[in-house]
Amino acid sequence: MKTWISKKRMQGRTVYMQSALLFFWLLVLVGCGGVQEPQSTVDTDTAAGSVYSEPAAGTVQGEAVSVVSEVPGDGSDVRGEAISGAGRESGLTVEFIDVGQGDATLILCEGEAMLIDAGDESSGTNVQNEMEKLGVRELKYFVCTHPDADHIGGADVIAYKFPVTSLLMPELERDTKAYEQLAASISGRNIQVIHPAVGDIYTLGGGSFTVIGPVEQYGEDEANNWSVCLRFTYGELGFLFCGDAEEEAEEDMLAAGVELGADVYHVSHHGSSSSTSEPFLRAVEPSYAVVSCGRDNDYGHPHEETKEILAARQIQLYRTDELGNIFCYSDGKTLNWESEYDFAGENGAAAEENSAPEETAAPESSRQDYVLNTNTKKIHLPDCESVGKMKKKNRRDVHAVLEELFKEGYDPCKNCMG
Ligand SMILES: [Zn+2]
Ligand SMILES: [Zn+2]
Repeated sequence: MKTWISKKRMQGRTVYMQSALLFFWLLVLVGCGGVQEPQSTVDTDTAAGSVYSEPAAGTVQGEAVSVVSEVPGDGSDVRGEAISGAGRESGLTVEFIDVGQGDATLILCEGEAMLIDAGDESSGTNVQNEMEKLGVRELKYFVCTHPDADHIGGADVIAYKFPVTSLLMPELERDTKAYEQLAASISGRNIQVIHPAVGDIYTLGGGSFTVIGPVEQYGEDEANNWSVCLRFTYGELGFLFCGDAEEEAEEDMLAAGVELGADVYHVSHHGSSSSTSEPFLRAVEPSYAVVSCGRDNDYGHPHEETKEILAARQIQLYRTDELGNIFCYSDGKTLNWESEYDFAGENGAAAEENSAPEETAAPESSRQDYVLNTNTKKIHLPDCESVGKMKKKNRRDVHAVLEELFKEGYDPCKNCMG
């Protein structure tokens, strides 16, 4: 079990209210090609009290990536600071959040954050928690790849809880509950809604992504093929995210000649055999593939065909149903992987790679295992009898420094720590 020191909950969230916008699609600004650089409130260069240094992507040489470090300062009042809080540590963090059967991928790059999808309706709070654990206070981009419930079901929670500068989604409306809830959550807010066009480029910290799909318009009942597809690059490395785009959309991307090459491929459509056709995979040519899917899901994802085609090309496959939350850290040259549950890669290679990142915020000696009750805000030792009675949803296991927990508002249990 990997442990994380939770960052303080953001206070003083900036919410821009706009009045009298009745229909959220009136907010729609159509992406019109060329470089899109939406006005952002984030100014990482002037982040107050920052110990944050801005590395030049791709020029960091041979340094271990420092991954989990505390957000500096007491964070007691972030009003007006408008910093994302994310990734003040240098480099890139990609978290494939375990949302069961669905997608949610968080990308933090040099102080800026974006989220691709937010899982199903039951996952919004889980995604929110993961974002808060990494200190994310706002999203520069929220990409809703396509309006299927396993991708946008939790999106309304995220749009309510975090300031979002730009929401990227395909030009495809639905009359589903998930879609309507998302529409309601952004209505009247100052969120720029963009239907991105192929070739649009957006920057995130020292990284950027290019929109590579959808290259065509598809039928109303082909939501998967409408998926917004993007290729994120940082330094020398590329990451490909194509939502649930299926073979037809893949063929169209190939025909359009968009750049598909990537080191890390977030396997489309949860590893369904209707996606990841061989010509497409050949063009991507990744070293790593990540499947977001639920344990024992009804669809049999990832399908055997997909696993075989990946294995045949010696592509290392990581799955959220096996590993829980999966973290990929990069300095722009190398990739380091961690996961919530033990990597038990068939060839053992993953286990080795798992050792690189180290927590640097406090010496290991001052850290200890505790069990937190997030409801009562009590800190327990793991053998305290209250731990056994605790509701699972309130339990959080941490390996932490006591003072940090106090700062988060936790108090020691009188029985086990009194
Ligand atoms: Zn879908
Ligand atoms: Zn899906």
